[in-house]
Amino acid sequence: MTPAEATQFLAAHQIKFVLAQFVDMHGTAKTKAVPVSHFEDILCPGAGFAGFAVWGLGMQPNSPDFMAVGDLSTLSIVPWMPGFARIVCVGHVHSKPYAYDARFILQQQIDRLTQKGWALNTGVEPEFVLLRKDEQGKIQPCDSTDTLDKPCYDYKGLSRSLTFIEKLVTSLQAADFDVYQIDHEDANGQFEINYTYTDCLTTADRFIFFKMAASEIAKELGLICSFMPKPFANRTGSGMHMHMSMWEGDTNLFADDTDDRKLGLSKLAYHFMAGLLAHAPALTAICAPTVNSYKRLVVGRSLSGATWAPAYITYGDNNRSSMVRVPGGRLELRLADGSCNPYLATAAAIAAGLDGIEKQLDPGEPWNVNLYDFSNVELTEKGIHTLPQSLKEAIDALVSDDVIKNALGVLADEFINLKQMEWVEYMRHVSEWEVQRYLEFF
Ligand code: GLU
Ligand code: MG
Ligand code: MG
Repeated sequence: MTPAEATQFLAAHQIKFVLAQFVDMHGTAKTKAVPVSHFEDILCPGAGFAGFAVWGLGMQPNSPDFMAVGDLSTLSIVPWMPGFARIVCVGHVHSKPYAYDARFILQQQIDRLTQKGWALNTGVEPEFVLLRKDEQGKIQPCDSTDTLDKPCYDYKGLSRSLTFIEKLVTSLQAADFDVYQIDHEDANGQFEINYTYTDCLTTADRFIFFKMAASEIAKELGLICSFMPKPFANRTGSGMHMHMSMWEGDTNLFADDTDDRKLGLSKLAYHFMAGLLAHAPALTAICAPTVNSYKRLVVGRSLSGATWAPAYITYGDNNRSSMVRVPGGRLELRLADGSCNPYLATAAAIAAGLDGIEKQLDPGEPWNVNLYDFSNVELTEKGIHTLPQSLKEAIDALVSDDVIKNALGVLADEFINLKQMEWVEYMRHVSEWEVQRYLEFF
């Protein structure tokens, strides 16, 4: 879109304000509302922000302004806020892209692919839980489905939340998302909405927009939409699986029908996947970056059965217990959850995958069995490693992984410091579980 086309677009949609939007280190949307008469300022010099007020921008109160410069290709209406448009911005300082900006960090990894003539397409699968506050102010799933033990795909669960779903899907469609499936997932009030994959930068931009839309539309209906990875101890958590395929023009370089392992993957895809597995512990820190993320990735069966979340550094065909599932001709990285910054998660995945390609790594043989059924002894015998089981373990792995740290550049230390502080804060907290278990027992 040219600036002139953008002006026409804004007039045609009767836009009064444009949200100049970027994300902080946590992937949270940050915005300024700019009256449309000043739209061109977002393109040059950008909307100004005091970077010290934003997580992970590495700034001090006396630092220069963080200028959010709009990327014209991202301009869209904000369907749930009539009269508003949104433009995704990249941070600039002193007129140069700013190294702490997550979108710029992803752009740099994409540039490495572009130099090879490749483009990474991704599609993410957002899972989330819809909640309401009960009369006592306690947060509950919006709906307790009738088929309590297996609410997945429950028709009544879907139909009872139809107003929310219709509004959300209509909004996404108005912003050019090609939505193709919606279902009730395996926890009460949990849903997943699928839309068509595209280039990985646009997919990351869209995931942020998706979260903005879902939380606002829920709020309008008196509900809360949460992407928290594991809101209920006894229910399935919410993931943000990422499907990946590498393209050269119209050719999917990850697909190969002659694959000996019968997974429809090319040698390039195997090397890329081996890179993901080799860097899994550090990758987990970026893809599952909260204390709560590890309650989703927990090893072993829960009382209510399988959780469908990955716990093992393995891959397999249609295997949902593995970190990477291969649905054929592409890879599904199941690590990430909705608390991740999608730009950083994608950047880290590209860096890991390229390392696998550069070192011609081999991912070993696939595991096409239910890994949740293996005991610890069996896992050790078979050489199956588990994913980090706490934020601390993952951050420690990140500290010693130069490939993933290099992908984050200057943000790596900032990320590690903030996440180490989050871990310490969590460890200082004494939970209800501990009090119940130990207080009278000892
Ligand atoms: N909710 C599961 C997770 O946390 C995934 C379920 C599915 O495969 O759709 O990853
Ligand atoms: Mg799902
Ligand atoms: Mg999936």
